[in-house]
Amino acid sequence: MKKIRNIKVTNISQLSPNMKRITFHSTDFIDFPENEDGGYVKLLFKQESSGNTFFRPYTIRSFRKNKLELDIDFSNHIGNQGYATKWASHAKIGDEILISGPGLKKSINDNSDWFFFVGDMTALPAIACYLERIPKSAKGFVVLEIISKDDRIKLVKPKNIKIKWVVKSKKNPSVLENTVKKINWLNGKPYVWVACEFNKMKSLRNFFQKNKKISKNEMYISSYWKLGLDQEEHKLVKKEDSVKWDNN
Ligand SMILES: Cc1cc2nc3c(=O)[nH]c(=O)nc-3n(C[C@H](O)[C@H](O)[C@H](O)COP(=O)(O)OP(=O)(O)OC[C@H]3O[C@@H](n4cnc5c(N)ncnc54)[C@H](O)[C@@H]3O)c2cc1C
Repeated sequence: MKKIRNIKVTNISQLSPNMKRITFHSTDFIDFPENEDGGYVKLLFKQESSGNTFFRPYTIRSFRKNKLELDIDFSNHIGNQGYATKWASHAKIGDEILISGPGLKKSINDNSDWFFFVGDMTALPAIACYLERIPKSAKGFVVLEIISKDDRIKLVKPKNIKIKWVVKSKKNPSVLENTVKKINWLNGKPYVWVACEFNKMKSLRNFFQKNKKISKNEMYISSYWKLGLDQEEHKLVKKEDSVKWDNN
């Protein structure tokens, strides 16, 4: 069981129309490990009626040990919102919440010839962390699906990493997958990192694995949520899918 920490909101800033950064402070961070940026913690929500606790994973965007401060970037979406999205949209300074973690962080292969990052707004915080960390000489592409054109944010990145922002719309629901498939590949082997909605992840996984012959150890590919399912339901589908993928 991961340690549970009680943390308090100390700052809130709107990074873009659909992305809010919440900064938390806590003396419980005294033994929180450093260098976990890009990894994740889980926020805990207790349902009053049943007493059940629900866990929601969120990326550690930045942890500052000297200040005992942690930033999490919350994306917003219209329609059916769950505990975490509702909590973040109403959060105010002084609010407290419990977190567990950090979870096990996946490392990326810094020695690949180039990088290909793909994600939606839930993956934007993790991708932003990796772009800050990979070698300055790194090259490659990032394809990011955002909710509105104003959700483009400034990212610190190596000069030769090109970012393509695409805006999802009802008319263009597969814009992420279609854009990825049209990118002109560079020479050599890329390291592929993908996180997004479950069905999109499957389509992209198929593309990278079958069309581009990228093996499992040359990529991290994960679903961060699934349309129509809450995180508990998504976790079950994800587990079933990953067992099948591991065995093929
Ligand atoms: C390792 C990891 C790291 C993550 N990091 C971040 C992060 O840093 N920032 C971030 O914003 N998210 C992040 N996510 C995604 C986030 O955990 C999910 O979006 C989560 O489901 C939100 O919880 P909720 O309580 O708001 O909604 P839930 O109760 O889980 O779901 C309620 C409804 O909302 C829908 N839904 C959930 N997420 C979205 C979405 N993004 N767009 C549209 N509909 C959605 C579900 O399909 C469901 O119908 C991460 C996920 C993982 C696995």
